[in-house]
Amino acid sequence: MKTLQRTFTIIKPDAVRKNAIGDIIEQFEKNGFHILCLKMLEISKHQAEQFYAVHAGKSFFDSLTGFMSSGPIVVLALEKENAIADLRKLMGATNPAQAEEGTIRKKWATNIEHNAIHGSDGDDTARFELSYFFAGYELAQ
Ligand code: GDP
Repeated sequence: MKTLQRTFTIIKPDAVRKNAIGDIIEQFEKNGFHILCLKMLEISKHQAEQFYAVHAGKSFFDSLTGFMSSGPIVVLALEKENAIADLRKLMGATNPAQAEEGTIRKKWATNIEHNAIHGSDGDDTARFELSYFFAGYELAQ
């Protein structure tokens, strides 16, 4: 029996600036992800700090949250079997210098911070991140 899993992703400001939205969404669809919901928006520095709270105190926190609030982003709720792990694989390593050929970060990331895409790294984070950006009624289906 198939067990569908949901995950959350962000097309980051650098990728939006590079006109990569269409290409990245195509990668999701080609790789079997069903798009449940998506929207384009800008977040404030404070909202970026809340979203990335687990990284508070790290040397790159101020820069990361400044970057994430520097322009439009696209947030998506995705669904497939094994969605969380499969999306992490499709994204590639955090540092694009280590990202495998064929991954989204290999193709679109500029550096370890401006790395094109975010994806939830576990069940709990997926739940928190989906609920941070989407209301219950948007994901009720
Ligand atoms: P991810 O799950 O692969 O996105 O990586 P992490 O959860 O470790 O980090 C969150 C985000 O912080 C990354 O996607 C990068 O945008 C940024 N980041 C991570 N490590 C570094 C770093 O060493 N330097 C800088 N400037 N940014 C980083």
